[in-house]
Amino acid sequence: MLKSEYLQRVYTQAVTRDPDQREFHQAVLEFLESLDQIIDQHPEYEKKGIVETFVEPERVITFRVPWVDDQGKVQVNRGYRVQFNSSIGPYKGGLRFHPTVNLSILKFLGFEQILKNSLTTLPMGGAKGGSDFDPKGKSDEEVMRFCQSFMTELQRHIGQFVDVPAGDIGVGAREIGYLFGQYRRVRGTYAAGVLTGKGLSFGGSLVRTEATGYGLCYLTQEMLSKMKGDSFQGKTVVISGSGNVAIFACQKATELGAKVVALSDSNGYIHDPKGIDLDVVKDIKLGHRGRIKEYADRVPGSTYTEGFRGIWNVPCDIALPCATQNEIDGEIARTIVKQGTIAVAEGANMPCRPEAIQEFQHAGVLFAPAKAANAGGVATSGLEMSQNSMRYAWSFEEVDRRLKTIMTNIFHNIYTAAGECGKPGDLVLGANIAGFMKVADVMLSQGLI
Ligand code: NDP
Repeated sequence: MLKSEYLQRVYTQAVTRDPDQREFHQAVLEFLESLDQIIDQHPEYEKKGIVETFVEPERVITFRVPWVDDQGKVQVNRGYRVQFNSSIGPYKGGLRFHPTVNLSILKFLGFEQILKNSLTTLPMGGAKGGSDFDPKGKSDEEVMRFCQSFMTELQRHIGQFVDVPAGDIGVGAREIGYLFGQYRRVRGTYAAGVLTGKGLSFGGSLVRTEATGYGLCYLTQEMLSKMKGDSFQGKTVVISGSGNVAIFACQKATELGAKVVALSDSNGYIHDPKGIDLDVVKDIKLGHRGRIKEYADRVPGSTYTEGFRGIWNVPCDIALPCATQNEIDGEIARTIVKQGTIAVAEGANMPCRPEAIQEFQHAGVLFAPAKAANAGGVATSGLEMSQNSMRYAWSFEEVDRRLKTIMTNIFHNIYTAAGECGKPGDLVLGANIAGFMKVADVMLSQGLI
């Protein structure tokens, strides 16, 4: 129950309007609980209707995506783009291709994206999109035909000054290439800035592939240093997932002196007490889109266990959930706390349920929420857009330096905001408030409502 009657009304309306959208309600409630702590100091938000406007997307686009499979049969998926908020810049946010995709998940992701993009300090609004299409097990030709059909419709809703999609679960370099090719064909224009996460030879940015995982570690390192006088050096790390975010978080944590001992996919997890051999993981995952199980067949001394949640029984100093939403519930969180973990940082979006976050915060475990901790991906997408506008490419070192600066600044901004709200160290509060106030001020000054 929220203290503020106004915020409670906003929440009730969001739930009543879309009673089935549980993930979206969860994200909105977490945000409103933070806002509840400062709303008394901002009567203008209620007077101008800012919060009820903020939780309603500016536009939701739904469309059919027909495509032909390798057997010549027509398949039909559903495509979406949720254009949530464009106050501080063109809509920006990834595309997710996964069978679980629905409007609730995309609205939660789009909502979080507004706050995350605001925290990067770059001029990007919030959006998210995708489809219930599953690229897993499909041939390259099927994926290409699907992407072409998806973009045939999406192209009329996006543009470098309108909405700039990128990748997410199930959408990597291959899919972005097919999507970009179709945009170029249909529009008859070479607008590199319309998508980010592109291949390096057609307008992509160095470090974009590594950015979310690297950024997660940069922010975690800063949090450990400022809040505990500590670092990754000599720490044991567990990372869930084995996709784009997990792989490059594993690489950077290792470079920073930690030992990563476990990774997972949706079927199960591997445990390698000597430390994960990332070359083997990259060969399996990036080389031939294999399953993480193969690792245990190839690396002596490592084990594979069925069931992806079991990974959290592996003791660690630092936990980096990098797979998907709501992976860690209260019970798993208690296990993580009991093992003496000192920090949890979210690489995936909303991997920890609210009761899990409470467990961590009560136990004094440092906790970095996704909207700050995984903002490195979209921040580097923002840098890709800058390079596309300049028609120029920065070096790896230059982009990496900018990414590190952005992540360090995000940590300090949210840390300061939490302190100013009278809750030092509550980075969930700090991220929600710092992200929101900037957008709310712009909404007020632009007279959007
Ligand atoms: P990938 O598709 O590259 O990898 C996803 C990983 O998570 C895979 O190992 C996958 O296993 C696992 N996974 C996916 N769904 C489930 C599930 N329902 N249960 C268990 N495991 C699952 O995606 P990314 O690495 O790009 O994204 C991971 C997370 O990070 C997502 O929450 C995404 O929104 C977030 N994120 C990504 C950014 C990026 O730049 N890529 C930026 C910011 C956030 P399997 O192969 O078996 O499906």
